[in-house]
Order: sequence, then structure tokens, then C-alpha cells
Amino acid sequence: MHGNDILIVTEDDCKQLIDSGGAFDAVKDMFGRMASGEARNFPVVREAIGHADAFYGFKSGFDKISMTLGVKGGGYWPGNMAQGLTNHQSVVCLFDPDTGRLSALVGGNYLTAIRTAAASAVSIETLSRENSMILGMIGAGHQAGFQLRAAAEQRNFEKVVAWNYHPEHLPNLGKVAGEVGLPFEATTIEQVCVQADVIITITSSFAPLLMNHWIRPGTHIACMGTDTYGKQEVESKLVASAKVFADEIDQSTSIGEAQHAFAEGLITKERITPLGEVVNGTHPGRSDDEDITLFDSTGMGLQDLAVAGAVVRKAMEAGTVQTVQIG
Ligand code: NAD
Repeated sequence: MHGNDILIVTEDDCKQLIDSGGAFDAVKDMFGRMASGEARNFPVVREAIGHADAFYGFKSGFDKISMTLGVKGGGYWPGNMAQGLTNHQSVVCLFDPDTGRLSALVGGNYLTAIRTAAASAVSIETLSRENSMILGMIGAGHQAGFQLRAAAEQRNFEKVVAWNYHPEHLPNLGKVAGEVGLPFEATTIEQVCVQADVIITITSSFAPLLMNHWIRPGTHIACMGTDTYGKQEVESKLVASAKVFADEIDQSTSIGEAQHAFAEGLITKERITPLGEVVNGTHPGRSDDEDITLFDSTGMGLQDLAVAGAVVRKAMEAGTVQTVQIG
């Protein structure tokens, strides 16, 4: 009988072992493997627990190429911030696909932020115009700084323009822009839309913020905030008129930004392309400088597994993280 050793990779270990570049590579490859059918997400469970206004759930999947099988468990506790904790809390469990035994426990909070930022960065790399110069940020919460940093690695932006519902949070985002060497200007939502070549939306809004008629031809929009039924950041007419790409089409039309346009009959699933097809080169993506492209991200278990798997491989190479025998 062999002992069951599991690797314990803490939040601090994750920060040492993977950065935005490592997350970008892992998530981009995973999008490609999803589109080619080599990796599969399993149905998501997400429930209000009836306590602390919290949402709790599981995202899981299996990637046959890297042999990564696992689940991210956790959720959203809106009262955490007041206690000095991050509102999103999660952990990733990885299992040996040959035996089903637990192989690693990986802190999921930092990984969630960098895998989410990596998804929009992949959309910017594959869909935005190469000469994009102004980055627009809608939102300045926990994820926004990670988004800005990862986006800045994809294009030679010259400036960041930003709006947030809580303007008092904007200086924090301005600090991140300063750290990556970009001038930062807080302005109105309309001005963000009118000026920016690439717009990232990363809010918890339940009403449209971006209007169709504000968006210039050629803009790329990464809609990152809407990941739950009822949320909305973009007018449904804008979704209907854009070239739409998604991490997962079924999630996009049920809990993503496209849910409203889909429910109103303004868009069909056939009009939405998996981003992985663009990664694999089986879809051209943007075909004209005047196209408005829109990436609808709802967040997938396989994104979590991609970064957790990468971290575990690096941890094993480094040999620095703790192992515990559980059986
Ligand atoms: P957060 O709580 O730290 O920040 C919330 C942001 O939304 C802040 O900018 C806040 O000012 C803004 N906001 C709050 N109420 C608003 C309103 N009524 N109208 C417009 N803006 C409002 O959250 P976060 O961790 O930064 O996450 C932001 C969003 O991204 C959430 O909706 C979250 O569920 C979503 N998210 C998506 C993914 C994904 O994979 N697509 C991953 C993580 C988080």
C-alpha cells in the first residue's frame, strides 16, 4: 500500500511560483485545448447558502493533455472586505487522474485573479488591433489591477482612462498604472468608451454601463465582470452588433454578458465563437480594423486548473513546498 502524499501550495507559494506571463501561457493553451475537445469543463455548481449573503460553489474539469483533473471550491462573501479579507475565497484540489487520489491543495485566491486577467489578456492579444494605444478600465475593485497589468503586457498602450462606480477606489488603480509606466486619467464612462481602443469591464454591475452608440469602430471590449444570472455591464444592443467571442458559449448565454441579448432574441449561439478557435487558428477572429470585437468571459474551471497545474509542476521542480501524507 503506497502512502498518499499531497502537495500543499499556499497563497504565498503561488505568488512566488507564477506571474501574469506564466498564467497567460497556461490559460491560452487551455483555451486551445477546450476548442479542440481535449479538455472539458464539468457543470458548475453555484448556490446562495442563505448565510452571510454568500455564494458558494464548484468549478471543475479535466485536461487530457496535461492530465490535470480537479475542482475549485469557494465563492463570494461580500462582507469579507470589512474584515480585511478578500471577498472571493477559494482553494483548488487536484486529483491523480489514474487513481482518483488527492494530489495537491492549492490556494485559489491569487490564482483566480491572475487566471481571470490572463483570459482578457488572451482576448486582447488575439482580437484587439495591434496599434491599440488607449486602454479603458471600467471598474477598480480587487480584480481590476491584475487586469490592467496583464493587458499592459499585450499592447504598447500609451495611456489608461478609467471610471469606477466608487470613485474613491480609482487612485489604487492609478497606482498600478504608474507601476507599469502608464499615465492614468479618471473620467466618465462615456469618455472611456469614446477614447479607448481596448476596454475591460470588471464590475459587479446589474445594469448596463456601456452604451452601443459610444463605442468607436475597431474597439475591443473584454467583458469580465458578468459571471452570474442578472449581472450586466454592456447594453444588449452592443452585444448584438459586435463580433462576439466567449470562453464557453453555454455559460455566455446563461450567466455571461450575452445572457440579455440572448434572452431578448438579439443574438443566437451560432453568432458566438469560442476564443479557443481563434487561439488554434481555426477562426480568423477580427477580420477588419473597423470590427468591434467583444469577449464574454464567465470564468471556467479549466482556467483554474490550468494555472493550478502550472504552479504544481513548478513547485515540484523547485522542491520547496510542503508535502503531507493523508493516507
Ligand atoms: P470587487 O467586489 O472587488 O469590485 C467590484 C467592482 O464593481 C468595483 O469596481 C465596484 O466599484 C464596482 N461596482 C459595485 N457596484 C456597482 C454598480 N452597481 N455598478 C457599477 N459598478 C459597481 O470585485 P472583483 O473581485 O474586482 O470582481 C469584479 C467582478 O468580476 C465581479 O462581478 C466578479 O464576480 C467578476 N469576476 C469574474 C471572473 C471571470 O472569470 N469572468 C472572475 C472573477 C471575478
